Amino acid sequence: MTQPPVFDTSYARLPDRFFARQDPVPVRAPALIALNRDLAVRLGLDPDWLAGPDGVAMLAGNTMPASATPLAMAYAGHQFGGWSHSLGDGRAILLGEVVTPDGARFDLQLKGAGQTPFSRRGDGRAWLGPVLREYLVSEAFAALDIPTTRALAAVSTGEVVVREASGRPGAILTRVASSHIRVGTFQYFAARDDVPALETLCKHLIDRHYPQSETPLDLLRAVVARQADLIAQWMAVGFIHGVMNTDNMALSGETIDFGPCAFMDVYHPNTVFSSIDQYGRYAYANQPQIAAWNLAQFASCLLPLMGPEGPAIEAATEAVHGFAPQFQAAWLRRFGAKIGLARADEDDRALIEDLLSRMATERADFTRTFRGLVTGRARNEFIDPAAFDGWEARWQARLAAEAAPQAVMARANPVRIPRNHRIEAAIVAAVEDDFAPFHRLGAALARPFDPAPEFSDLEAAPRPEERVERTFCGT
Ligand code: AMP
Ligand code: MG
Repeated sequence: MTQPPVFDTSYARLPDRFFARQDPVPVRAPALIALNRDLAVRLGLDPDWLAGPDGVAMLAGNTMPASATPLAMAYAGHQFGGWSHSLGDGRAILLGEVVTPDGARFDLQLKGAGQTPFSRRGDGRAWLGPVLREYLVSEAFAALDIPTTRALAAVSTGEVVVREASGRPGAILTRVASSHIRVGTFQYFAARDDVPALETLCKHLIDRHYPQSETPLDLLRAVVARQADLIAQWMAVGFIHGVMNTDNMALSGETIDFGPCAFMDVYHPNTVFSSIDQYGRYAYANQPQIAAWNLAQFASCLLPLMGPEGPAIEAATEAVHGFAPQFQAAWLRRFGAKIGLARADEDDRALIEDLLSRMATERADFTRTFRGLVTGRARNEFIDPAAFDGWEARWQARLAAEAAPQAVMARANPVRIPRNHRIEAAIVAAVEDDFAPFHRLGAALARPFDPAPEFSDLEAAPRPEERVERTFCGT
């Protein structure tokens, strides 16, 4: 006997103004594209039920298990620095929370499940492209051991979604997250001067993710610490999120909302992919400052819970200012490991920065250069290999003091990342009903540190004509 999920949804027990109850809008002809069986098992779900007709019907939003409490969450946020008083889940519906065999709680959310009261002018739908992109990149993140939401399933809907005047195949992603509480969720209530709601949300967040925090200030410090480490991890794999709006920063510390995100090929600190990021607000090198800015918005939401205003502002400011040194320390540790240092110290920072600046000048591929330090092929990535040689001599001298630099580097420098041109190629094939490149890429990205010869073609940087320089929002 196969079993449907049993939901136990703490968020649905919060006050009514936190969300709108909303059933998914049924779709015409659901079909399973991908089911993440390993993840299903880890969540305590039955993969055979999920892959069967009732499971696929749930993953498409056509039927709900009895315990589901479908709802759209309310949130607000700053988008590209501009304030939006009301955003909310416009195309995502929370089915409910599941509690795993080891007691962890996760949201199951359908993305692209139809209109909600927060849809504004949107159709509430997603097309295949962004669904497959999020599936591949979020699962690649999980394999790289970077905190992230996950992809449980992707289904096609048998319906057409219109984007940029063309009809595209509709799809729905099932996203799994520790929670979907965002900076923007706090901002929604702060903007309405709803202090009781802020208190409730703060307590909920502490219970769920930060049980060691006793006060809102403790919570703020803990959130800052997780974000500092998270952003350092993005930087260390050359990842550009692309839409670091406050509604796209999850307070659990997981990476969320893989819209126009991308991994860099050629290293340059100013790299931007998103077609809507005209001024490079969310460029690679800006990500730490933007995270700190978002955290300042979060801090300001907590002020009404922090006692007398003057001391509250002072303490909150200090907590947010803690981001920069914590990020710098995490960055040094992560990039130190990338050049083989088990414990990099401040004196090593210049060595790392020198490599990066030579990479930028010589248009070196980020992933291949760092992996090349393991294999001895890094110098091939530089237009002028002499630029690498100059650095290598200093690096080798420093490595003499290290016990096992090869092992350290091999764990820190992935062989394969989800390169943009590969994702695009998988999407183009999938639109033509060929899902083989998508599945193959997914299988390769599940083992990012394994130089498996059968996937060696996926290590290549794009040829000039293959380069994908622009990515689009997940709409
Ligand atoms: P995002 O760019 O995914 O962070 O989304 C920003 C906001 O736009 C959120 O409130 C989304 O729910 C909403 N949104 C994005 N796409 C759609 C869509 N196709 N239909 C309705 N709302 C959408
Ligand atoms: Mg979003």
